[in-house]
Amino acid sequence: MAKIWALALHGGAGPIFGRDYAPEEAHLRGLLRDGAARLAAGEAALDVVEAMVMELEASGLYVAGRGASPNTAGQWELDAAIMDGRTRRAGAVGALQGFESPVQAARAVMERTPNVMLVGGGAASLAAEAGLTRVSDPKTYYGAVDEDTVQENMPDMGTVGAVALDLYGDLAAATSTGGVLSKTPGRIGDTPIIGAGTWADERCAVSCTGLGEYFIRANAAADVSARIRYGNQPFEAAVHGALDDVKRLGGNGGMIAVSASGELAWGFNSSGLKRALADSRGRFEVATFL
Ligand code: ASP
Repeated sequence: MAKIWALALHGGAGPIFGRDYAPEEAHLRGLLRDGAARLAAGEAALDVVEAMVMELEASGLYVAGRGASPNTAGQWELDAAIMDGRTRRAGAVGALQGFESPVQAARAVMERTPNVMLVGGGAASLAAEAGLTRVSDPKTYYGAVDEDTVQENMPDMGTVGAVALDLYGDLAAATSTGGVLSKTPGRIGDTPIIGAGTWADERCAVSCTGLGEYFIRANAAADVSARIRYGNQPFEAAVHGALDDVKRLGGNGGMIAVSASGELAWGFNSSGLKRALADSRGRFEVATFL
């Protein structure tokens, strides 16, 4: 058994300059400690990334799960995905309404169906069948969002994600989001699209955040693996190359990634990236801006 593990978390790529992110950073630090202990104790990467994203969703501190904002029709439509690098099994939900944890619903798609992605009512039916916790009153659960706050927070992309390498050498990634602010009903971003916002295989695990349309067009998360696989690029160069491609198309955002040998990498071409990274070599860092 390899004795190494590594974990990275993110809380979105669009922090606002001048705002204090101490609460988010304190939350990320606590979660990182918990996730690191789980991996060190031998928990599987797949379970750890799901647990981390569930906590990020439940915190209400990010634009995912409890902190999600409504679309222009006043509905909360949430997206999430999870992928197991060892088997490349994956599950995703798009435009899910009425449940607390979209990443749990994504895991249910992976475990309970032969499908990779379910959207809308189909995703909700599966989540109900899996016994996941419902949100009975979205306005109370997610909180009312007034227009001024939405305008002020426009750049504050707050998707959440986790990537991990476990003691068995397996990689996993999970991502969850309320999407971009003031989104069109039915709009699905990169987060639940396997390869675009979320990817894990035998080389790396990647979770993205940013303007989803550009990450879809760049197939950004899987591009990291492709650069290693076909271009022989070093891991970190692959991460920055994939992000440069997003930028070339006109998009911005960031990503976190972990390689099969336990390297951690992150990058952003937006204002910042709320992130937390730890590994078995003693790395432990939490930051928002550079
Ligand atoms: N990537 C997400 C989306 O486009 C948004 C974000 O990262 O905040 O839905």
